Amino acid sequence: MPPTRPTVSSTPPWSSPPFWIRLVGDGVYGVPEANGTWTGMVGELITRKADLAVAGLTITAEREKVIDFSKPFMTLGISILYRVHMGRKPGYFSFLDPFSPGVWLFMLLAYLAVSCILFLVARLTPYEWYSPHACARGRCGLLVNQYSLGNSLWFPVGGFMQQGSTIAPRALSTRCVSGVWWAFTLIIISSYTANLAAFLTVQRMDVPIESVDDLADQTTIEYGTIHGGSSMTFFQNSRYQTYQRMWNYMYSKQPSVFVKSTEEGVARVLNSNYAFLLESTMNEYHRQRNCNLTQVGGLLDTKGYGIGMPVGSAFRDEFDLAILQLQENNRLEILKRKWWEGGKCPKEEDHRARGLGMENIGGIFVVLICGLIVAIFMAMLEFLWTLRHSEATEVSVCREMVAELRGIILCQDGARPRRRRAGLRSGHPLPEERLPRATATLSNGQLCGAAAGEPEQLAQRLAREAALVARGCAHVRVCPECRRFQGPRRPARSEESLAWDRAPGGGEPE
Ligand code: ASP
Repeated sequence: MPPTRPTVSSTPPWSSPPFWIRLVGDGVYGVPEANGTWTGMVGELITRKADLAVAGLTITAEREKVIDFSKPFMTLGISILYRVHMGRKPGYFSFLDPFSPGVWLFMLLAYLAVSCILFLVARLTPYEWYSPHACARGRCGLLVNQYSLGNSLWFPVGGFMQQGSTIAPRALSTRCVSGVWWAFTLIIISSYTANLAAFLTVQRMDVPIESVDDLADQTTIEYGTIHGGSSMTFFQNSRYQTYQRMWNYMYSKQPSVFVKSTEEGVARVLNSNYAFLLESTMNEYHRQRNCNLTQVGGLLDTKGYGIGMPVGSAFRDEFDLAILQLQENNRLEILKRKWWEGGKCPKEEDHRARGLGMENIGGIFVVLICGLIVAIFMAMLEFLWTLRHSEATEVSVCREMVAELRGIILCQDGARPRRRRAGLRSGHPLPEERLPRATATLSNGQLCGAAAGEPEQLAQRLAREAALVARGCAHVRVCPECRRFQGPRRPARSEESLAWDRAPGGGEPE
């Protein structure tokens, strides 16, 4: 029994044909007029122009006073019908959608703040300064801090990407910074993962209103009910503040927000910025047939449909009995399913079941490709940078690069040009490294050197580090013992320390 326009059945009754079914004269359900008369179906029943009103006629106390109703055959409530506002479709960069641009920005700021604080804290704490050659006893020591600026920026990235890094905090303070950063990333990554699937698959619904209160609190979306029905009377007689406010709006709004029929209301919803307050049965029926419609919020009240008849009608008992029987054997439910179900609109789960396509996650491939291009570009810059710091040769930069690439591809190590190999391998393209020496000097004298008979590699390494100090590199410093050659942890006097002592100003702190 689909919702129809109000229909009344005139005498003689259906049991003894002929009988007539016709639409109600004024096309409305029925409301009381100022002079006490009723309009619509209710009015025709009162004046006995009709014997029965078979429609979605709502049972109300006011109507019950002037006509009789059968037992309710359907339950319903007033609801809001509104059109679906589709947001952005899942696109290439939907993977960014789980967080708003603001959150992404704050995450970037948090990352920079953590990197800076890590850098400062690691500088400050003495426990992050350690000797990289603890076994080289008896030699002038250098202390190294692993949190160089580059490492301080890299360490949080490793944590954030859940990959970790070889840098391990040693001091309580740096561990504290790392701990809170990891806790932060845990929550951020969990929230991101939890939301990601939904944002990648579902075309989000942009809902400007979510409840009747939202509707009442705004003025951009017009709203109204069917004219001359129980829904209109509901707002008119309501004592609830929000509904009173809504009635005042609907009553005073020009042009009128009331519609003559449900169809007119639905068309208005689809074609303008209008929310239609109608009964849930009609709401459901139209939603099943038009996927651009949606229900906003829940039901505003609960009531039922009954067959209307004049007071004292002889048919009432028969109708009551029939309705109860139809309810008990589920016939009413079967009929409702038969007429209401449209099943055309896809459900949210349908989108999910289809799996992700390139249109959903293509953006991450773009990011990957961009990252690779940037990496190649950086490698070329590094290559050029190293060349700038090496001795000039006749060979052009391009030829150097081609020769290098050929060497890499053909695994011909010996075929590579010589001039910047030392610099490239050490990672510190410094002149001192390219020509490793057994000793290096600071402004205040000879700092460090390899002892006679030391393996060549260690000698070079020590010399390199000494050179870093000489250049004022902030993550390497001379250990206090070496600088003062006194104190509780004073190292054994080696040849180098004696050399230090002999150097001009060597015993003075830097
Ligand atoms: N079914 C309602 C009535 O009986 C129509 C409406 O107002 O929504 O008046």
